[in-house]
Amino acid sequence: MLTERSSRLVTEAEREVTELLQAPGKRTVEGFLTSLDRILLRVRDVASHGSFLFAVHPDEEIRTAGRAASEAADRFFNTFRVNDAAYRALQEVDLTDVDGPTQYAVEKMLRDLRRAGAEKAPEVRAQLLELNNEIDSLCNQYNQNVARLERSVDLSGADELTGLPPDYLAGHVAGVDGKVRITTRYPDFLPVMAYADRANVRQRLLFEFMNRAYPENVEALDRLLTRRFDLAATLGYPAYAAYAIEDKMMGSPAAARSFLTRIADGLREPSRAELDRLLARKRRDLPSAPRLELWDASFYGDGYYDGKIRTEEYGVDTRTLREYLPYRSVRDGLFALCEQLFGIRFHRVESETLWHPTVEAYDVTLGDQPLGRFFLDLVPREGKYTHAACFGIRDGIEGVQLPQSALVCNFLDAGTPADSVRMQYSDVVTFFHEFGHLLHALFSGHGPWLYTTMSFVEWDFVEAPSQLFEEWARDPATLARFARNPETGEPIPSELLQRLKAASALGRSSRWLRQVALAAISLELYDRSPAGLDVSATFQEIYDRYFPTPLETGYHPTTSWGHLTGYSAIYYTYVWSLVIARDLLSPFFTKGTLTDREIAGRYVREILTPGSTRPAKELVRAYLGRDFDFRAFEAWSREGIPTVPTPPGPSA
Ligand SMILES: [Zn+2]
Repeated sequence: MLTERSSRLVTEAEREVTELLQAPGKRTVEGFLTSLDRILLRVRDVASHGSFLFAVHPDEEIRTAGRAASEAADRFFNTFRVNDAAYRALQEVDLTDVDGPTQYAVEKMLRDLRRAGAEKAPEVRAQLLELNNEIDSLCNQYNQNVARLERSVDLSGADELTGLPPDYLAGHVAGVDGKVRITTRYPDFLPVMAYADRANVRQRLLFEFMNRAYPENVEALDRLLTRRFDLAATLGYPAYAAYAIEDKMMGSPAAARSFLTRIADGLREPSRAELDRLLARKRRDLPSAPRLELWDASFYGDGYYDGKIRTEEYGVDTRTLREYLPYRSVRDGLFALCEQLFGIRFHRVESETLWHPTVEAYDVTLGDQPLGRFFLDLVPREGKYTHAACFGIRDGIEGVQLPQSALVCNFLDAGTPADSVRMQYSDVVTFFHEFGHLLHALFSGHGPWLYTTMSFVEWDFVEAPSQLFEEWARDPATLARFARNPETGEPIPSELLQRLKAASALGRSSRWLRQVALAAISLELYDRSPAGLDVSATFQEIYDRYFPTPLETGYHPTTSWGHLTGYSAIYYTYVWSLVIARDLLSPFFTKGTLTDREIAGRYVREILTPGSTRPAKELVRAYLGRDFDFRAFEAWSREGIPTVPTPPGPSA
């Protein structure tokens, strides 16, 4: 039924585009452009809704139908982008006296079609269309494999989980065979990497984690790299990276490379000092340890020896922190913060049947004005998207429809009742991160055109609002608002918050150097011909340039790295957006508070609400009163490892 409805919607849209292009008369903004925009918006909804169902629906049949719907919509857009008649019609739109956002939307549409090859000869366009369709299905296949092919280790008993917090142990008891099964899903995996005292348990689980969707995705990725290279070559680009980066803030692979070099140069020294510190800590337990291993340190989430240092030297134990972080308090505290900062209100929607009983729905309002709806889907389950992300379900257009988004994450242990489930502190930070995306979607969903929504913001800017919002989850004053132990009623001790803040720089430079390494890998994989390319060896080689901690033989991290499909060559986005985000925080720091309503209001007005009605660089300039620069990021990354504030107290 879903498949029928979506394919009918797409077929109708195809017919409407043809009719619109054949209609006689002048191409006006009110007539032609508006009609075209609404057709594209409807198909875009089919795509978003389809890929959302694919990511979350518990019923495999509906997931498959969702995937088919989004593929049909993707094929529509692939066809539209090489439609030479649409390209010519758009060039004819009379733009005299139109406003800036409309001008910019049309410019971007024309650029999209030109980049896709709408000006090429018919046989070349047919070839490009075929390539794009194949690329889309390869991406879907890759991501479906990651979701489907989870792995696990079977432990001989609870003693293998020494070091894990009690609520984790309670949720992971032995089955009838006496074995405790630990999967590679995040709520299973991350606590083991952070706390399991037995190194070989961490090692075994990390091995499985690093081999998710292996070998299934080896071929899918090889074919994807090849087809994207072919596409770029057909369009006249030296490699896919040049094509992917051209319409971003960064502009070119050369600019990306020199950016990454600049950032890595600043991080290398402090990162080495951090890793030496971890190795020294490891040698207190194991004097003859030759080196730090990947399962000893923070590579994914919290690392084991990072945690030891945080506990012993800063008095911060993330297990103890969990007690103060019941999910519901965190959620309500986050909502209250947004009400205070931005004047928005949250209204729980109870009336609708949702796709899973653990999912929550909210409507958001600003005064009398409805801003949109969002969903929280935070409990892992079979077949669900395994990472954390904010999914756009519907783009908002003023007078047409309100935006809808969902946070799809895996923060909450499925075995613990909702009223007592706790969060890992690092997940609280991720929750704020994803909420930063959500706020962007809500505020920007009231513009004039599809091409001016948040979906069409320069991609390498989109992680700025999210990384900016993480700062509140690291702010002692913000955490103090909601972090409390529900059993004792005790609020989190303020002294613990100060120590947490002091410990937050621990591991920062290695964490970001790792991001730079991954960004360099994503760039290099796409900035060359894939003929004879050994993906795993390339990963290893570039990784080794940055880190002394070796990757084990037998790891295949590129078979479950979903960013290689969506982000392709532009994983640098996270670091680039962070440089911008740190500068966007400057006015708050100058003012000395993160809860200044005036600055928060300016942020909403100049950065979030405009969506992509103007280039991101201009939005930043309007907000800061100048161009962004590297100073804030460099100062932050040089904070390095602060001196230990106080000896750890027993309450930690
Ligand atoms: Zn993000």
